[in-house]
Amino acid sequence: MEKRRKRQTGPAQPSSRDADNLAADARTSPDSRSASANGLPSDITAAEIVSSLPDGLIVVDARWRIVYASAEATRIYRKSPGHLVGRGHWEAWPESIGTGVERELRRAMQDRVIVCIEHRCDAEGARGMWAEIRAFPCGPGIAICCRDISSRRRVETELRQREKELADFVENAAIGLHWVAEDGTILRANDAELNMLGYTRDEYIGHNVREFHADAAVITDILERLKRREEITRCEARLRARDGSIRYVAMTFNVYSENGQFIHTRCFTRDITEQKRATELQERLAAIVESSDDAIISKDLNGIIRSWNSGAERIFGYTAEEIIGKPVATLAVPERMDEMPNILDRIRRGERVDHYETRRRTKDGRVLAISLTVSPIRDASGEIIGASKIARDITERGRTVQALRESNAALTRANADLEQFAYSASHDLQEPLRMIAAYTAMLKRKFGGSLDDTSDEYFRYIVEGVQRMQQLIHDLLAYTQASTFFEQPESDADANEALRHAISNLQQSIAGSGASITHTRLPTVRMHQFQLQQVFQNLISNAIKYRGEEAPQVHVGAERKDGRWLFSVRDNGIGIDPKYKERIFGMFKRLHSIAEYPGTGIGLAICQRIINGAGGHIWVESELGRGSIFFFTAPPGRND
Ligand code: ADP
Repeated sequence: MEKRRKRQTGPAQPSSRDADNLAADARTSPDSRSASANGLPSDITAAEIVSSLPDGLIVVDARWRIVYASAEATRIYRKSPGHLVGRGHWEAWPESIGTGVERELRRAMQDRVIVCIEHRCDAEGARGMWAEIRAFPCGPGIAICCRDISSRRRVETELRQREKELADFVENAAIGLHWVAEDGTILRANDAELNMLGYTRDEYIGHNVREFHADAAVITDILERLKRREEITRCEARLRARDGSIRYVAMTFNVYSENGQFIHTRCFTRDITEQKRATELQERLAAIVESSDDAIISKDLNGIIRSWNSGAERIFGYTAEEIIGKPVATLAVPERMDEMPNILDRIRRGERVDHYETRRRTKDGRVLAISLTVSPIRDASGEIIGASKIARDITERGRTVQALRESNAALTRANADLEQFAYSASHDLQEPLRMIAAYTAMLKRKFGGSLDDTSDEYFRYIVEGVQRMQQLIHDLLAYTQASTFFEQPESDADANEALRHAISNLQQSIAGSGASITHTRLPTVRMHQFQLQQVFQNLISNAIKYRGEEAPQVHVGAERKDGRWLFSVRDNGIGIDPKYKERIFGMFKRLHSIAEYPGTGIGLAICQRIINGAGGHIWVESELGRGSIFFFTAPPGRND
């Protein structure tokens, strides 16, 4: 418990004569006023001087016998003078034997040096006291000055403790803290600061604070202001964290100076990133609400309007100041008054009201058709505290929908009329055509052979023209009929069956061309069987008609895709230039002359009409000279 002072040691200063005189004086009565040989005024004794000193003094001779003990020394050690003078030093303080005190005192005695020790006393009566001892050679022995430093030690201990607490507070504070020198060098940083940014002490301390600021202008301004000894409170800045992310912080600085000299600035850094993001989000949401064309309104559970955006202002005509605090019933139309309590009841139960179509009244008395979506608003604990309401003015939409409905109906009527007309026209055209064909045949029979070659050729042209006209009319009829079966079929179509019929109808051209038709197992689909057969027939007859050098090879397949059936009809024919792949589905659209390939240009239009009518799509993938694949989709059969 003792401590050697660093400033001890060095040669002994007081002369041995002084010590002798002091010891001699100490032995004389304090009343003695005779002039002494030590040069002191005759009315002051050395003992008086000693007793006036704040320190206690003990003098021991070379054999460690106590020859003098001042009154202060006896007070400090709680011993009576009689108990000390004349006794051995180690006898008076046996507890110090073997301790540093003994070692140091013996050193002073032997080496004739000054020693200084602080120690905690263990002596009877003064246990626990802290004493400072300075021993120096005095005559053949040593003089020991002692002082009770308990209160100083207490203050020092308290100070140390406080310092420790302060350092602990700084280090473990929840708020980031760093010290910065005048040039911006970081001198110290606590854990909260380092953790916030993710740096190690070495990566942060000793570096210039500018390295960590995302905005150079901000930190330059801060350092300038600090140089002018300004206090900076809640200055927002953006710091770069170790992982590259940016942290928003609020910083408070103050300058620590001593005797007017800048020592460092202390900076408290609070991470406000989350708060900043939340505010930004809130601002963005508020901007969305404000810029919305719809009315966005909130009300409490008593139906009192609590917020009102500019959309609401536009739709209903009330400003926010006019309507906030008023009951939402202000907007109700008399015949729908009871609606609002019902909606509030549902909200209280936590239900949401979606796209509820109703009517509301504007400030100037107009009645609007409104679509409402009302949702409960909950507080942080989840309790319902009100409702948010999005109201859309659908008055105009209602009118548009009505107009659209009407024009649709008119279009359907016109379409039906047109189809009816096309049907009757093509149907009625057949009759005169049949007459032309019959009478041409009769004329040919009657005059055939008696006319010249040119007349025979003319007869041939008439017959061909009539046949072509008949084909056209036939195809046109098929086309108009394709739309009369748009309604759902009663039973599903078995594609295997449909294909079988199509192939059998095409038997002649298949045999004539040497075509081979293959197919995988086909599914049932929700289509009219005869329409599916027609699609197969048109596609396969085209595949044969537009064949290439080799005998036609046609393959029909089907696979399940995205919940529907995807059919494919692949051929090895002449192919189609991709730029015409949409055009060929148009009415009368052909890529070849009649002389090259006969046809009316209606076959694919019929296919498209049938497939679209069944809810599917048809398209082709092809390249010139590389065959074609026609794809079409169809809804799966009911049992599929
Ligand atoms: P048509 O065959 O009567 O001319 P379509 O509507 O069936 O009429 O076909 C339109 C055009 O598409 C055809 O004129 C032809 O140019 C092209 N086409 C149709 N199918 C094929 C095919 N399998 N290979 C090559 N071209 C085809």
